Amino acid sequence: MSTVTVRYAAAALTDRGRKRPSNEDAFGYSVEDGVYVVCDGMGGAAAGEIASSIAVDEFLRLLCARDRAADLAAVAHQAVDAANHAIYSRSLRNPKLSGMGTTLVAVLVEDARVSIVNVGDSRCYRLRAGRLEQLTLDHSLVDEQVRIGRMSRAEARRSPLRNVITRALGTQTQVTPDLFQHQAEPGDLFLLCSDGLSRELSDKQIEQNLAAPDLPLADRCTKLIEAAKKAGGHDNITAILVHAVG
Ligand code: CA
Repeated sequence: MSTVTVRYAAAALTDRGRKRPSNEDAFGYSVEDGVYVVCDGMGGAAAGEIASSIAVDEFLRLLCARDRAADLAAVAHQAVDAANHAIYSRSLRNPKLSGMGTTLVAVLVEDARVSIVNVGDSRCYRLRAGRLEQLTLDHSLVDEQVRIGRMSRAEARRSPLRNVITRALGTQTQVTPDLFQHQAEPGDLFLLCSDGLSRELSDKQIEQNLAAPDLPLADRCTKLIEAAKKAGGHDNITAILVHAVG
């Protein structure tokens, strides 16, 4: 058993960006319950906003009310199912919302144990000892092509199909999330973000913008988002930072 107790601090920010008329990203978190979630919605009219906010609300509600003795992975799966069902059934009731969906990326912490849940192409990164590492795999057509060696990273970035995601919440009756387990070390900084951040900034640029240990977390969120806007701000941009304080 580990004797190290890990505490967490967090900050978050979302921005419409410079090109989109509205913000279809949503986020939510509870430091007390160890739950942090970012969703990036899609769909016509206001549907994307509806899908992402339903997902954040459902996911947070179930995780915050969980039985602390229950297996966290099982609860995470149930919460994803519930959010998926809530969006899907809402889209069936209203034809204007037909086809709406959302990504979901979440970090769940229990002391040093960190669980990461992912559906879609939002991302979780970890900055450890100044080095950035992506902890999730994108569920996107181009990323899957890259992983099997059919496309290079550079081709993926330019591809007209780069927006196509292969898994989303709310578009089908069932969805399977990825679940990754990690052990936090004091000093670790986890970043949850929508693709409005990860497409504008390279991993190196994200790393450089995060590497400012004396800057408060909220200011580091602002710095990241400003950098993404400066790089083009083509999409909505959301970032949550979760710092393992030790
Ligand atoms: Ca997006």
